[in-house]
Amino acid sequence: MAHLHCIRNTVQASHKLARHTPFIFACRGNASYEVLVAGGGTGGISSGARLANKLGEGKVAIVEPADNHYYQPLWTLVGAGAKPMSSSQKSMKEVIPPKATWIKDSIQQFDPDNNQVILGNGEKVSYKYLVVALGIKLQFDRIKGLPEAFDTPGVCSNYSAQTVGKTLEALQDFTEGNAIFTFPTPPLKCPGAPQKIMYLADEYLRKHGKRDKATIMFNSAGPSIFAVKKYAESLTKVVASKDIVTNFGLNLIEVKPETKEAIFQKVANPKELVTCQYEMLHVSPPMSPHEVVKTSGLSDAAGFVEVNKETMQHVRYPNVFSLGDCSSVPTSKTAAAIASQNAILSKNLLSVMSGGQCTPLYDGYTSCPLITGYSKCILAEFDFDLAPLETFPLDQGKQRRSMYHMKADVMPAIYWDMMLKGRWSGPKQFRKAMHLGMSR
Ligand code: FAD
Repeated sequence: MAHLHCIRNTVQASHKLARHTPFIFACRGNASYEVLVAGGGTGGISSGARLANKLGEGKVAIVEPADNHYYQPLWTLVGAGAKPMSSSQKSMKEVIPPKATWIKDSIQQFDPDNNQVILGNGEKVSYKYLVVALGIKLQFDRIKGLPEAFDTPGVCSNYSAQTVGKTLEALQDFTEGNAIFTFPTPPLKCPGAPQKIMYLADEYLRKHGKRDKATIMFNSAGPSIFAVKKYAESLTKVVASKDIVTNFGLNLIEVKPETKEAIFQKVANPKELVTCQYEMLHVSPPMSPHEVVKTSGLSDAAGFVEVNKETMQHVRYPNVFSLGDCSSVPTSKTAAAIASQNAILSKNLLSVMSGGQCTPLYDGYTSCPLITGYSKCILAEFDFDLAPLETFPLDQGKQRRSMYHMKADVMPAIYWDMMLKGRWSGPKQFRKAMHLGMSR
């Protein structure tokens, strides 16, 4: 490890912060780590913490350029005005595991044949084992007229830190007309998020006496309200009870803020366009793997890091693992999925490191708390085969207040206090206990 120039973080504002302040390295020359984690989001921090806890100080480094870490699942509630933005955000310093090194830069290039990555500043960092957790890229710019239209009234999106604040503004300013909620062609993270905010918008407009002036529309490029049959049946009833119009097979391709028009392409016949007037337009953008992943030599044909879906180990490079939104694992892309994945990945990586096999296998567990109002939620939990895999011994297809509190209060606490510290592996143990050992 040649000539590392170490900048000890100087923020010592409080005793608590000082105690948890990680080392931040600015590389001068090549650095080398036992485990290098690419990305400091949900997957990178949770798996990095687990590995650093096991391997000890100085062995694990996390490459992440951002100053802040976000708990994105809260943005649904932030957009609806039910939680402040600050509850979804912590400074990166606070969440980098104390025993890990933070390399505050971005990865420009992977070089898996030489076990190294090249940083934005041109320097190289080598590794024995690599964990790729770069998330998925939002592509607002694939919709003509965006992102500029975000500067105009009524256009908003819960999908980014920059645009989530506009959702509440759009609800507050709404007078009358169409409130349109879009759903893009896959891939996307949290496929429930485009409709959760719609149910909250419905309740918001009712509470403020504006619902009878609004036509709420779900214009989705997908074929149905939800991929899992059990929850789709429940949601279809929710949609009907709220008098929401659903238009499936419509993909948003253009926004014209000057005339307040949203242009959709029919998925079944792309030459056919449908124009809708909007007063409020909530956009869930198209997404794709990051370019650096697509060109990494690690990706599959779709551009995602090609791992074994059960072990999280790369199919060609046994010293490379991946989890979360950037991986090829064919489950719904959520933080809940990462809760299970980070434990399996870490155990398997440590086993391979000591000459063993990958034993724990991932079953595709993912969950989607489908918020249907300011105190109601359907907690969808399912596996690779879209078969329900529910934690609680009650019908989770029903809207429940208890599940809303799970989503709004319990899950954020678990995330900040346990998952990011490498101490949460998902609800499997609880599920088994709740079902008296009769569940998978
Ligand atoms: P991210 O958390 O996005 O992290 C990726 C990190 O990689 C980022 O910090 C980024 O800066 C960094 N990075 C990118 N490029 C580079 C580079 N070149 N070099 C270094 N670092 C880089 N999930 C749920 O479980 N339940 C929910 O209710 C839920 N609701 C959601 C609602 C919304 C509105 C949104 C947006 C998401 C929601 N999710 C939900 C999904 C969940 O937040 C994501 O699936 C999860 O955060 C993905 O984690 P990740 O680590 O794969 O990616």
